[in-house]
Amino acid sequence: MTFQALDLIDPLLRTLGGLGYKQPTPVQKQAIPAVLAGRDVMAAAQTGTGKTAGFALPILQRLTLDGVTGPQCVRALVLVPTRELAEQVFESFRSYGGNLPLRSAVAYGGVDIAPQIAKLRKGLDVLVATPGRLIDLHDQGAISFALLQTLVLDEADRMLDLGFERDLDILLEALPKQRQTLLFSATFSDEIRRLAKGLLRDPVQIQVAAANTAVKTVKQWLVTTDKRRKPELFLHLLGKLGWGQALVFVKTRKGAEALVKELQEHGLTADAIHGDKTQPARLRALERFKRKEVQLLIATDVAARGLDIEALPLVVNFDLPTVAEDYIHRIGRTGRAGLEGEAVSLVCADEVDMLKAIETLTRQIVPRFEEAGFEADHRVPETAPKGSAPAVQKLTAPRAGGKAAGKPAAGAKRPAAAPAGGKTPARVEARPAGGSESLGTYIAPEKHSKSPGRDRAPDAGGPSSGRPRDGGSRGGSTGPSGGRARGGGSAG
Ligand code: AMP
Repeated sequence: MTFQALDLIDPLLRTLGGLGYKQPTPVQKQAIPAVLAGRDVMAAAQTGTGKTAGFALPILQRLTLDGVTGPQCVRALVLVPTRELAEQVFESFRSYGGNLPLRSAVAYGGVDIAPQIAKLRKGLDVLVATPGRLIDLHDQGAISFALLQTLVLDEADRMLDLGFERDLDILLEALPKQRQTLLFSATFSDEIRRLAKGLLRDPVQIQVAAANTAVKTVKQWLVTTDKRRKPELFLHLLGKLGWGQALVFVKTRKGAEALVKELQEHGLTADAIHGDKTQPARLRALERFKRKEVQLLIATDVAARGLDIEALPLVVNFDLPTVAEDYIHRIGRTGRAGLEGEAVSLVCADEVDMLKAIETLTRQIVPRFEEAGFEADHRVPETAPKGSAPAVQKLTAPRAGGKAAGKPAAGAKRPAAAPAGGKTPARVEARPAGGSESLGTYIAPEKHSKSPGRDRAPDAGGPSSGRPRDGGSRGGSTGPSGGRARGGGSAG
């Protein structure tokens, strides 16, 4: 199918041609006609599926063909959970609407509000905003929703996770009831379904991947170790597996800074993005990473939200996320637009509950490795369903400086996707291959028997009493130990 077949107008088709988009992605095929027809939409689409164009293109078309804005008015409003996503979605609107006579702007907290007010004065066709700042603009009388025709909630699950529910209630009160509403969410929890029920009228339901299934093109595996050895293990794997650029997720801002320092002390280029950094500093770090001036970008979940980095081969979960859904968002940073990606997690004993929550949500057991010399003193308990003994297979060694993009073992058995049958694997003694380095223990993946559910660590946070202001990191209080690496290779 082509974009022409979706009845998009010429200026949009020209733009898409210029961008090299040959055909619509599955979410676009379903969303574009529905939005053009004025329907409400409820879409389960992860980042990387092309969902932004799925709503931006038909919105731009409708705005072009129908009506004009007025002073302080906004005709289409896109609500997003974080500043980074706001910038990214705004950029998409700018790029897709390049040949159209429409005005768009972005508004989020943490920066001067005056230019945002000034942009609104003449009125806008599209505003991309985070909830907190939008309420401020509304409280100051800078914005009118009188002409609002379309509301988009992008990454709605994340908005609820960040405690924006109250803000959404306030905003929804202020919006006209007669409107088109589009709700996009990576996952569909019960809370999201409740929100959707109150918001959407007879929505077209779109599901492009099975709900709560991690991006299929991403190979996932984990290495168990002790918490204090994580920095050292990370450095070791960087060298041993010849990792190139990687986006590395940590739990806390402090943890991000500690890891950057550690990596820099080992001669690596690393930068951090987290909630304590100013918006320009975050964007600068991201740009440097995109230009490949920086090998390792260390990020907290909130700061990384909405990042779009082309062809990122590797995501490393230095810490597991405290909210299981974040795992899906994190690994969605790689394997984008059908490219192959890899997601590696370093897991210590006190993260086992988070691991279980992730495995329950994604309905898989993440293939597990141990690296010789880094075995955990505090064993990470098995997460395989009770009564089944996980298989341990021998792996041949990855060679130092071997494959880029972190193949766990050149010529070794790769951790494969979960086999369908869910048969009980047998335990086999793992022995490092003679004379070679070994990522020793491989526990064969299998289907998880438990039903999916939402499982939060106690410190994962929920709606807070105070209003979260646009994208601060909400990690717990513990970060990586910051233990000094004892040697360990450095990536070339
Ligand atoms: P999104 O899921 O909206 O974050 O988009 C993921 C990436 O896919 C972005 O870099 C888009 O530029 C790209 N993209 C979106 N639609 C298409 C398409 N139809 N063909 C090729 N690339 C696309």
